[in-house]
Amino acid sequence: MKIGFIGLGNMGGPMAANLIKAGHEVTVFDLNAVAVQAARDAGAQVAACPRDAAQGAQTVVTMLPNAAIVRSVLTADDGVFAGCENGVTIIDSSTIDPKTSRDMAEAAERRGLTFVDAPVSGGTGGAQAGTLTFMVGGTDEQFESVTRVLKCMGKNIVHCGGVGTGQVAKICNNLVLGITMAGTAEAMALGESLGIDPQVLAGIMNTSTGRSWSSETYNPYPGVVETAPSSRGYTGGFGTDLMLKDLGLAADAARSAKQPSYMGAIAQQLYQTVSSRGSGHLDFSAVINLYRMG
Ligand code: NAD
Repeated sequence: MKIGFIGLGNMGGPMAANLIKAGHEVTVFDLNAVAVQAARDAGAQVAACPRDAAQGAQTVVTMLPNAAIVRSVLTADDGVFAGCENGVTIIDSSTIDPKTSRDMAEAAERRGLTFVDAPVSGGTGGAQAGTLTFMVGGTDEQFESVTRVLKCMGKNIVHCGGVGTGQVAKICNNLVLGITMAGTAEAMALGESLGIDPQVLAGIMNTSTGRSWSSETYNPYPGVVETAPSSRGYTGGFGTDLMLKDLGLAADAARSAKQPSYMGAIAQQLYQTVSSRGSGHLDFSAVINLYRMG
């Protein structure tokens, strides 16, 4: 299949490489020359703008930082829509707000195109290994038609409902992740200061009702889980600034749905503080340092 791919960052670069490995003909575009060269080395054709990357493609994948960029990459004069032939499917795997996804789907439909949202979880490791989870928003038929391409980049391809619901799933999952991590950090730090061995405390949590992915697989207290970012100086994980972005999307979505988000608001402030103190690049479990270092 001929595929256009736009956004070759930490996630998009390896995802595009996996499409090439699976035998697809991939034409890429990115503003970053280094990322473009890496894709060229992996076997991609290079386009001069998103419109050119979309020209002749049957599917276009976008993996971009935020909603404003997705909107402009799709709708600008030299954007994806302008290059697509009738019937082309655009898969947006960026994490953005559900409203923008729905707007883009409507704009695509007006031009005889299809747009589905398919944000991912699994991080950069999953992008490299081709084991991402895709949360897809679209009709049954659209879901069927994108599955083949997504399987080259991911392991679990989940149909969440109509367009936008992939983003809803992503945002709600990361909302609870941000909250449980902050809660686990608070409890681990309290336990430490009250004199219990953190390893013992984590063991109790993980065999009792306090258990979560944050306590068991990704415990924020250093040394409790060997493979967790906390055991390697909070590097190489899911950045605090990315968590902050996702909590911001959750807060915006809650506001537009007139739905309270008490815990999300507090979690957002905690990660904002970590970021403001210059640690936004560290794994989000570094939130525990707010409790452990004054
Ligand atoms: P990144 O910043 O590493 O990559 C973004 C890429 O988009 C960069 O190469 C940048 O040059 C390119 N870009 C920016 N503006 C552009 C434009 N106008 N035209 C063409 N290219 C442009 O980001 P990432 O970590 O790859 O994340 C991409 C998306 O995936 C984000 O929406 C993020 O929230 C989401 N996500 C990231 C992770 C993660 O662990 N990194 C996990 C899940 C989801």
